[in-house]
Amino acid sequence: MSRPAKIIIDLAAIQANCRLAQTLAPHSKTVAVVKADAYGHGAVEVTKALEPQVEMFTVSCLEEALILRENGLKKPILLLEGCFDIGELKIALDNQCEIIVHSRLQLEQLLNTRLKTPLNIWLKIDTGMHRLGILPKEVESIYAKLVESSNVNNIVLMTHFAHADAVGGAHTAKQISQFETCIQPIVAHANHKVELSMANSAALLAWQQTRVDWNRPGIMLYGLSPFAETIEEATALIPAMNFESQVIALREILTGESVGYGCTWTAQRPSVIATIAVGYGDGYPRTAKSGTPVLINNQRAPLAGRVSMDLISVDVTELANVQLGDKAVLWGKTLSANEVASWADTIGYELVTRMPRRVTRHFVK
Ligand SMILES: *Cc1c(COP(=O)(O)O)cnc(C)c1O
Repeated sequence: MSRPAKIIIDLAAIQANCRLAQTLAPHSKTVAVVKADAYGHGAVEVTKALEPQVEMFTVSCLEEALILRENGLKKPILLLEGCFDIGELKIALDNQCEIIVHSRLQLEQLLNTRLKTPLNIWLKIDTGMHRLGILPKEVESIYAKLVESSNVNNIVLMTHFAHADAVGGAHTAKQISQFETCIQPIVAHANHKVELSMANSAALLAWQQTRVDWNRPGIMLYGLSPFAETIEEATALIPAMNFESQVIALREILTGESVGYGCTWTAQRPSVIATIAVGYGDGYPRTAKSGTPVLINNQRAPLAGRVSMDLISVDVTELANVQLGDKAVLWGKTLSANEVASWADTIGYELVTRMPRRVTRHFVK
């Protein structure tokens, strides 16, 4: 016995989406992005499913990495924001983590400690996102300091795009050329191959020249397209999270009657309202407007009125034969979280990532 609101995670879909990323970039290695509990999909299970298939994983912080180590993950883990203090460097090293260095403070901490063996470093360059990263003009001097340090082993040069989902857009083109220009002297003078990393999902799908040594796909692994428009390369993605519940009440209401808190939806005709056991306490966005599609018995019907903590109401007047206990899909393979997000002023990334613990998670292979 339990509330029927649940998410079903299709691990085979995640494996297939990852293979798609790898097929698009057969000469690149893959760092699977599993930060924020694998975008709400369960990082322990997702990394187990992907470990045979990818070279590396990445999370935002050491705490997230340690959970994966405790659960037996063996492949290297990259810390996307690097270390937050000098004490984390040793723990990162002891746990086969590689670290991003994005600031002068992190550089100082790394150079001013004594590690028993050197760490692998990813030097993040700010080519136009203006969030994290060292300036392009500092790259050569900082790289030289890192090379000299006994704390540093391999160095990957990386950057991150602000607007790669704008296909062909000028901002990404500029970031690519900034990156290529500032790393050029290093690549030209090194006596070994210098590894590079640029692509997130959007770049990997739409910007062929960003598929370099290491790609960092995140959202596409979970089957959501990073693009607002339809992109050929993204059409084969399979959404991995299926969020569903059940119809637990049905009623007929008269024209002029309203539904839910604030009485924001009023019946324009005699209507049938289905009440679904799911609400914002289960991760269904409260900002979803009346009209947001919900699938009941695989047919679309519009949300009617405000989302409550535990419940939503759906106008099923036009559906035949809706019964108590019928399945309601909030998003999944046949209704994209991106589409629901567009009704709730957010993006699919946020919807899947912020699922609360109350919703039980089931894994299928
Ligand atoms: C989150 C993140 C990614 C993955 O981005 P997606 O858009 O989910 O593919 C890649 N690189 C960095 C640095 C990130 O922070």
